[in-house]
Amino acid sequence: MTLIDGKAVSAAVKERIRKEIEEKNLEIGLAVVIVGNDQASRVYVNNKKKACEICGIKSYEYALPEETTEYQLLKLIDDLNNDSRVNGILVQLPLPGHINEKEVIGYISPEKDVDAFNAVNVGKIMIGNYSFLPCTPAGVMELIHSTGTEISGKECVVIGRSNIVGKPMAMLLLHENATVTICHSKTANLKEVCARADILVSAVGRAGFVTADMVKAGAVVIDVGMNRNAEGKLCGDVDFENVKDKCSFITPVPGGVGPMTIAMLMENTLRAKKLQSL
Ligand code: NAP
Repeated sequence: MTLIDGKAVSAAVKERIRKEIEEKNLEIGLAVVIVGNDQASRVYVNNKKKACEICGIKSYEYALPEETTEYQLLKLIDDLNNDSRVNGILVQLPLPGHINEKEVIGYISPEKDVDAFNAVNVGKIMIGNYSFLPCTPAGVMELIHSTGTEISGKECVVIGRSNIVGKPMAMLLLHENATVTICHSKTANLKEVCARADILVSAVGRAGFVTADMVKAGAVVIDVGMNRNAEGKLCGDVDFENVKDKCSFITPVPGGVGPMTIAMLMENTLRAKKLQSL
């Protein structure tokens, strides 16, 4: 088994971006909007700001109180859509319950939607004519590519069908000519389906969900899950200790997919700048 080092791959992506920005002397801005006091969101936002610093992207943080109204948030997004210093807009999810997330995401200009959650960008991914790829699935593709594994013609199984991970993940694998199966909570014979996979991507959100009997010998296993185990330690969906000796490549948690998501956000922000400069 070989461990896929997400920290190293993400550092290489960020260095590639930093160099391009420096060489072309680009001025790039990313607006990061956070509403409320969610601690996990705070950590994500700080990590995104750190990545911006590494790459030479200016980050503009808008930390709004929990009681911010949907109208106030939409007004801010309107301002950011029209602010030429801002090339990308990221609204950290989840938003407080009284704000309609779909409405807010839909309000971000598709040209600045660096998370690629806006319906226009989701539709473009479906037809294979995209400006931005959603960060987590794009990061997974980078990790698979880093192993040198051929994707074309392979059996790929994605567990999870969320709009931000599972569905776009399946689409990106399909674009690279994999034969893709998407599994979810109503899938019958889940273990048998997963055991067919040459490449298995788990995005469920349950610790220890993927057991060794669900993994084909020699498979590539990508663990998107971010969970806490009984001891409160960060862990993925995969029963790492028992799966690691059965597969060819595996991502650890932490240090696998997580760092890639942020690196791909930087890539999308650079791409936004380039598209807006055409
Ligand atoms: P989500 O919206 O909760 O989706 C979870 C998916 O898992 C759903 O499609 C659900 O099926 C499926 N599922 C749940 N129980 C199942 C079961 N018993 N058998 C088969 N499928 C089952 O979660 P998400 O936003 O996609 O995130 C998934 C995980 O990835 C979470 O742990 C999250 O924290 C993590 N994540 C990590 C990153 C990163 O950067 N590393 C980024 C995003 C998310 P149904 O649709 O049928 O309910």
